[in-house]
Amino acid sequence: MLDGRCLMLENKWLKAHGTWLKVKDCDPGYHQEENVIIKTLTVGPIMANCFVVGCEETLESAVIDPGDEPDRILQALAESNLTAKLIINTHGHFDHVGANKRLKEVTSAPILIHPFDAPMLNQLADSAAAWGMAADNSPPPDRELQDGDEVAFGKIILKVLHTPGHTPGGISLYTDHEVFVGDTLFAGSIGRTDFPGGSFETLKESIQQKLFALSDDLKVYPGHNQATTIGVEKRTNPFVGEQASYFS
Ligand SMILES: [Zn+2]
Ligand SMILES: [Zn+2]
Repeated sequence: MLDGRCLMLENKWLKAHGTWLKVKDCDPGYHQEENVIIKTLTVGPIMANCFVVGCEETLESAVIDPGDEPDRILQALAESNLTAKLIINTHGHFDHVGANKRLKEVTSAPILIHPFDAPMLNQLADSAAAWGMAADNSPPPDRELQDGDEVAFGKIILKVLHTPGHTPGGISLYTDHEVFVGDTLFAGSIGRTDFPGGSFETLKESIQQKLFALSDDLKVYPGHNQATTIGVEKRTNPFVGEQASYFS
């Protein structure tokens, strides 16, 4: 039985290609577009989305937000013969960086994060404990990412947008087809702004000025829950979309 999201994809596929969507394309855990392999793993008790983004030609990959369950992430890499070249954190919350340490130990891949969130990497044990959970502190970053930077692996280039508001150093990473937004924007929702360093006004500006400036067709991969598109959120998001009462 196909769920609503798959039916929506199926209609899109039918319109574009005149053929049926294969069942495996409905699996939210696996997506492939041109030469990009995208695997979604929902990890840890807070169910954060970790993305393995791989270059099909070179089999080099980046792991975005390894929040927990490093062995599952390593298995996902191995299953597709992917080599992790980079570990990228969209922000410093422990549910997105909790497996940095183990992943770096095994793969030797460098850790990349915005400098404003870098100090959180050695406070993971404390912040997880505040939620009654456990996390290993992360090694310090090997490279700090700024707005406008580009991150390359294989034949893939991810462009960096600084999208603060959920945290001061939140970033989004985009290609011509997709954008990884961390906890900045969700399908039908937005990131919480009540944590230290959070700001609703800043978050709204990040989304409306930077994310909504991207192509409507871009698929949005958030840090939790299901994927969406820029166009759908621009039109219908109740907090920051065109219908939101405080949209300006
Ligand atoms: Zn977060
Ligand atoms: Zn999160």
